[in-house]
Amino acid sequence: MKNFKGIVKFIINNTKNPKVKGKTMETTVFKDNTINFYCSCTGNTKETATQMVYDTNEETIKCPHCNKHADQMLETLTQYNERKDNERKEREAKIKLNVVEVNYDWETGIHYYALNKRIDYDDWKKVKQYFQYYTFGDWVDCEPTGQKTGWMTRQPNEVKKALGITE
Ligand SMILES: [Zn+2]
Repeated sequence: MKNFKGIVKFIINNTKNPKVKGKTMETTVFKDNTINFYCSCTGNTKETATQMVYDTNEETIKCPHCNKHADQMLETLTQYNERKDNERKEREAKIKLNVVEVNYDWETGIHYYALNKRIDYDDWKKVKQYFQYYTFGDWVDCEPTGQKTGWMTRQPNEVKKALGITE
């Protein structure tokens, strides 16, 4: 499975394929800008057809062989990513910032905490000193529960104080 970059929506009219012509289509764009969409200019089977690509300059899908392209982009990669970003921001804006317990190491009795949403860089600078970045390798000899990777702190009260979180 190649890396996911986004989803684009488009309409192609300049095609003979009745399944595609004039219809709203959606396809995944991968990190290498290839898409799950094929042009039949070189053949009709998956082996012979040409895999189309997403042109990031023109923000359209294209066949690198015959230059066939979308007649209308209903949502470009940039628009998709902006929409997803805004949706995430809206979701996060509804959550009140807090420090929540995400892990407990029963062998050491240590509790680990994390922030429940992203904070901006100015706030992060105030609390970064209390956080450590954990990876799976940090948990070799114990069986932590919950969050296993990412920024965590063992000093929730200091973090709350620095960020002005009151409950
Ligand atoms: Zn083509």
